[in-house]
Amino acid sequence: MPTVKEILDSMDYGPAPESSAEVMGWLGARGAFGHYIDGGFTTPADTFATENPATGATLAQISQGSAEDVARAVDAARKAQPKWAKLSGHQRAKYLYALARSLQKRARFLAVLETLDNGKPIRESRDVDIPLAIRHFYHHAGWAEMLADEFPGLAPHGVCGQIIPWNFPLLMLAWKIAPALAAGNTVVLKPAEQTPLTALAFAEICAEIGLPKGVVNIVTGDGRTGAALTAAPVDKIAFTGSTEIGREIRRATAGSGKALTLELGGKSPFVVFADADLDAAVEGVVDAIWFNQGQVCCAGSRILVAEAVANTFTERLQTRLSKLRVGDPLDKCTDMGPIVSATQRQRVAALVSAGEAAGATLVQCEGQLPAAGHFFAPGLLIGADPANPASTEEIFGPVATLTTFRTPEEAVQLANNTRYGLAASIWSENITLALDIASQVKAGVIWMNGTNLFDAGAGFGGMRESGFGREGGREGMLAYLRGPSPKPRPEAQASFDAAPHPGAPGKGDPAIDRTPKLYIGGKQARPDSGQSYRVTAKGTEIGLAPLGSRKDIRNAVEAAHKASGWGKTTGHNRAQVLYYLAENLSARQREFESRLREMGANPAEAEATIARAFYYAAWADKFDGAVKSTTGNMVTLAINEPFGVMGVVCPDDAPLLGFASLVLPAIAMGNRVVAVPSASMPLAATDLYQVFDTSDLPGGVVNIVTGPKDELAKTLAQHDDVAAVWYCGEAEGRTMAEAESAGNLKATWTMSNRDWTDAQGRDFLTRATQVKTIWVPYGA
Ligand code: NDP
Repeated sequence: MPTVKEILDSMDYGPAPESSAEVMGWLGARGAFGHYIDGGFTTPADTFATENPATGATLAQISQGSAEDVARAVDAARKAQPKWAKLSGHQRAKYLYALARSLQKRARFLAVLETLDNGKPIRESRDVDIPLAIRHFYHHAGWAEMLADEFPGLAPHGVCGQIIPWNFPLLMLAWKIAPALAAGNTVVLKPAEQTPLTALAFAEICAEIGLPKGVVNIVTGDGRTGAALTAAPVDKIAFTGSTEIGREIRRATAGSGKALTLELGGKSPFVVFADADLDAAVEGVVDAIWFNQGQVCCAGSRILVAEAVANTFTERLQTRLSKLRVGDPLDKCTDMGPIVSATQRQRVAALVSAGEAAGATLVQCEGQLPAAGHFFAPGLLIGADPANPASTEEIFGPVATLTTFRTPEEAVQLANNTRYGLAASIWSENITLALDIASQVKAGVIWMNGTNLFDAGAGFGGMRESGFGREGGREGMLAYLRGPSPKPRPEAQASFDAAPHPGAPGKGDPAIDRTPKLYIGGKQARPDSGQSYRVTAKGTEIGLAPLGSRKDIRNAVEAAHKASGWGKTTGHNRAQVLYYLAENLSARQREFESRLREMGANPAEAEATIARAFYYAAWADKFDGAVKSTTGNMVTLAINEPFGVMGVVCPDDAPLLGFASLVLPAIAMGNRVVAVPSASMPLAATDLYQVFDTSDLPGGVVNIVTGPKDELAKTLAQHDDVAAVWYCGEAEGRTMAEAESAGNLKATWTMSNRDWTDAQGRDFLTRATQVKTIWVPYGA
């Protein structure tokens, strides 16, 4: 122990350890843990150790969940679900309040337990993880109370399988369990193998407050347990973890009918403009990348700094870095603890070495690291170019890259130069600039002059390969609810009877004009195949349609990308175009009716399509976002943004109304669409070209490629520049569309054919948009 004089001489921090006695007593009394299934703990079996990453000491023995354990847990959840859903919202709310209260009572215990199991500093578990988890249960108790009023007509999915990682163990549990229960679902949750302890303590709390048996089940184990849960007969999977496993889960659940939300990795930019408060931005980096040892999916791991202030900023950052205190996470003065496991430490070290080998300079905190445990010195990789693996791969450790930019345009380009899109942090005292950059950065969450802010009232989740779906707030609740399923109806089947090959006519050959055309970039385009197919009705040929191919889809996607201005126009402008389109359709209603009649479709579709165009014109400037009630001095905006380029594969019958019901809401929200219309009755869609041309619809906003539905759909689903795919059709096609979308993890909506007369509403708009949450602080 230093003397007072010595302390005053050095002004060093003395040790301020949090006691672990109570937690160690609890662990000692338990010894080994079984799973929590149907309201009780199973006998521990096939156990493995969970360790304290700061010391390497074993904390407890944990059971490895088998497929049978998962099956029993799912059965228990299935049995409990109808009764749980039948409770009034108020009754469910009371349970959620009780959970929140109990967590609150044990806050200190849980914080110590989390720190022991995960290694995060006690300051973080005490001041961030546990309070946020508690807030989550309170917030969702509120949603349960208001469910019938706020979400009329929606129902819970049923049983939800939930798989969480090790970086925020109890908080991730709260993010998953609280909304699921509020909505009337029951759950089977698998915590990460490295950090199961707070989930098991939570299971005890569930039992203690008298939560009905089977409503919450916890099955521990490694990835095999997670895979068994994914394969089990659950109604929804909610996963947080790596993009790689997220992709596997997307493929594994394709066609199963299971709802899916994925919250995956990130490589978030931390953009510092020349007019930023540099000292605040330096502290921001501490929170962005050295918080939780950088083991944060939304960590600001790519620092981009304006060249004009780069030297000053880097100097101050290095000074701050040199003063970080790395050590015992139970010490209240510690800034950084260990990495969660030896494997993860090795992974971080390997990526950092790869970054150095590719030309970046590593600057690390120089303090002595503890001899035991999985510590890794925090640092910066300076001068990593955009192709450096340290700039592209998620390091998931306490090392950020630091590069410079010259102009705001370059900052945006660098910020978006990633396959991820989880979060971004923007530092500038100029709110006009900061908001402009926020609108251009492709990320689900944006913090201005701040970083890593979370609240149960605000949505959290990614774009691009950071996954889809949101947790928190109203949008998080929607992820645990579903609308009534429309009655499916069988699809018409298209036959591809190739029409006589028109040959490869030269310029001026009249055959060119006889070849039916696709609609790409606002122009009629000859299909790449040069071929057409016969369209028949009741056995009689009624016309030819162009036979589109993969190449045509690729051209259409390119044209759609060029029409990016559509997403930036005002809702009012989009509304005007849609009204004009409705008017032009009205003028040609009779023509469309006779075309529909000729194809054997219902002529009433023409009038319904006109009404639908008016309907979405009305919505174009009214599908507003929100300002969320979160923490003090913070305007938290939730903005509904278009995906960008969407693939829309339409039903085979309802050739006009089915097409319009899917394409119109997508474009009303600012998306550009590559549509594959009905293959058997494509002529109603190809007749639309002239309507589009005369309605001031900018070229490239709607592109139409007719032909073999599933072949074209597959190209769309596989295309990396398509952000979302809607597919209507039979089971085989739905499975294909979901599985093939796993490549860039595009958001998918697959549906069976239905009665299209009532197919409109908010649900279509919600699915055509992704919420961007922007946190704007204020205060003089
Ligand atoms: P994983 O994605 O493997 O783990 C996340 C969760 O999924 C864990 O509960 C894990 O179980 C489980 N899991 C593993 N395999 C499967 C499977 N086939 N089917 C279903 N569930 C499965 O992440 P890691 O822990 O391996 O970390 C690897 C990298 O992932 C990190 O370096 C980091 O880059 C990233 N990551 C991102 C996170 C985020 O929040 N976005 C969180 C964690 C990691 P178990 O761990 O018990 O084997």
